[in-house]
Amino acid sequence: MISFAQTVELLHATKSTDEQFSARCPAHNDANPSLSIGQGEDGKVLLHCHAGCPFEKVKDAIHRRVLEQGLRLSEYSAMKGLPVDYLQTEWRLQDITWQGRPAVALPYIEGASGGTIRRKIRLSKDSHDMFWEDGAGARIHIQRFESHPLRHI
Ligand SMILES: [Zn+2]
Repeated sequence: MISFAQTVELLHATKSTDEQFSARCPAHNDANPSLSIGQGEDGKVLLHCHAGCPFEKVKDAIHRRVLEQGLRLSEYSAMKGLPVDYLQTEWRLQDITWQGRPAVALPYIEGASGGTIRRKIRLSKDSHDMFWEDGAGARIHIQRFESHPLRHI
């Protein structure tokens, strides 16, 4: 789920009223900011393109942009509110490159003996854009946002 703050940052939105932001719509070739971004109940993100793009189209465009963006440890640190040093030393998180995109690797030690280490690879700020890596570095499992309602990007 992408938060209101992440949406505002991703789209370089500017504040238009006390409760709303506006940005250039990612779903059409937008010269002027046509997209209104608001915050609904429960932190849901409200979107409306004044040029007429359907909600689903705007949502998909934002998801695509999130996926293309990648993730750096410094961004993950800001999202979690934890220092980079702590994440590196205590959690052993690492900046990596996955298929040309910046990503963060999260190692997990499995079993009581602690012999096996598997890594979870997180590709973007979307918490569903994450998968387990096997020993050969192959992608063995992926979870993706699929059926979130629009308000839930
Ligand atoms: Zn639009």
